[in-house]
Amino acid sequence: MSTPVFTKIVATIGPSSSSAERLNELLDAGVDVCRLNFSHGDLAEHGRVLERIREWSRRRERAVAVLGDLCGPKIRLNRVDTPGTRLAVGAEIRIERGDAPCTAERLTTSYDRLVDEVQEGHRLYIDDGLVKLMCVDKEPDALVCRCTVGGAISTRKGINLPDTSLSVRALGEKDERDLRWAIQNELDYVALSFVRRPADLEAVREILARSSARTQVIAKIEKSEALSQLDEIIALSDGVMVARGDLGVEMDLWRVPLVQKDITLRCRAAGVPVIIATQMLQSMVSSPMPTRAEVSDVANAILDSADAVMLSAETAAGEYPEHAVDMMRRVAQVTEAFVRSAEPRTTAAVGMAPRIASPSAVSAIAAAAVAAARDIHAKLVALWTATGATARLIAQHRPMMPIVGFTHDERTYRSLALIRGVTPQRVDAVSNPAQQVRAVEDCLLASGLAQAGDPIVFVTSTRPTQAGATDTVLVHHLRGEPAARDSHAVAARRTEKPAPA
Ligand code: PEP
Repeated sequence: MSTPVFTKIVATIGPSSSSAERLNELLDAGVDVCRLNFSHGDLAEHGRVLERIREWSRRRERAVAVLGDLCGPKIRLNRVDTPGTRLAVGAEIRIERGDAPCTAERLTTSYDRLVDEVQEGHRLYIDDGLVKLMCVDKEPDALVCRCTVGGAISTRKGINLPDTSLSVRALGEKDERDLRWAIQNELDYVALSFVRRPADLEAVREILARSSARTQVIAKIEKSEALSQLDEIIALSDGVMVARGDLGVEMDLWRVPLVQKDITLRCRAAGVPVIIATQMLQSMVSSPMPTRAEVSDVANAILDSADAVMLSAETAAGEYPEHAVDMMRRVAQVTEAFVRSAEPRTTAAVGMAPRIASPSAVSAIAAAAVAAARDIHAKLVALWTATGATARLIAQHRPMMPIVGFTHDERTYRSLALIRGVTPQRVDAVSNPAQQVRAVEDCLLASGLAQAGDPIVFVTSTRPTQAGATDTVLVHHLRGEPAARDSHAVAARRTEKPAPA
């Protein structure tokens, strides 16, 4: 078996990767999570892509999670009918209500209340900040702005408002339609864009709860407003995405690396998976090789112990989608190997014990399992999970060995594909702990994840059918130790094999 890659790769699927052939190539190259971006394409096309992903996953017996990315309250310019329209630096530009086409002197937007909510002195950034305006005066039905950085504008370009607190709803009509589609199609995750406050996530959670949906929610952090309530937002999220594209427009770009590190640390403390996104290998949109700085960016996200690194335009619209996935996988492989080989030296940066935000009986079991695995040089940590919670709690400690997550539940199986270091394995439901141990052993041996005699740590429950009842850390060697194999009490057996140097 080749060395497993612990860091998960999220790839955005778009015109460059949506055909069955290209999609299969990307998945074969090591993609764990496919992102369907609802800002582009229609639901029929997303449905076809989803079917192709599920077909590949069935054929290869490998878990792939699917993440639907909701547009959220992105404000956009209305139509620009004249090609080549440019806003000139120093020019006065009015922003009015309504849907009249935009010109070089007068703009309209998708959000009429912009005119009420933007105040004098607020900045308005068009097209990722390529064109910049400053509000210099207000009239009842218009903003009077000065253009501080000039440039071309075109239809539906995005507008970022770094100084304005907007009252726009977290979920628009299109988002609600897309969310219903995600629920009907049992997507594993939905990401909400432009989260500003915890209540934004509650809006999504309410809709999910009404449909008894198991789709999990990822908060995209791309507004500076969100940073002031970050811990509360993380607590309400099943995952977090550091969406550096919009974040780098909404706040000083030079602060983004530090915010990324802060979010990563907070997510680790909370045991919430974190995805680092946007422009990771941007130059590979049109080049088969990335820049040195891009490779370094991916490696640094891995050294910071992110769960996942994400490709956007590189796989959605680029010329070299498969090369980009391959490059990410190689960077992850060597970076993780470095961390493992240099563990004592790098512990401070990577393997350090996280500050556990909400300790519990199960998190104590998870910590004990990881400590035992480290001390006996276990080949892997196996666990049995109904909901995936135990896997996340173990992954929170970033053990240096693989985590194998056994579950009978298809939804849990797929969702584990996002969690760092976890190899999901689907098994039949069993109610007897001794049967569980046998099933785990059979699967580990058959898949080649471990060999007879390997020391492993197995985290399970004396009540395996009950969610949240994890209470057992079992330490033993695969096969050859019947007493350990049939044990279902909390057990800590000393390994009889000499530990590797
Ligand atoms: C981002 O802004 O970094 C991001 C991931 O969101 P989107 O691709 O939807 O702009």
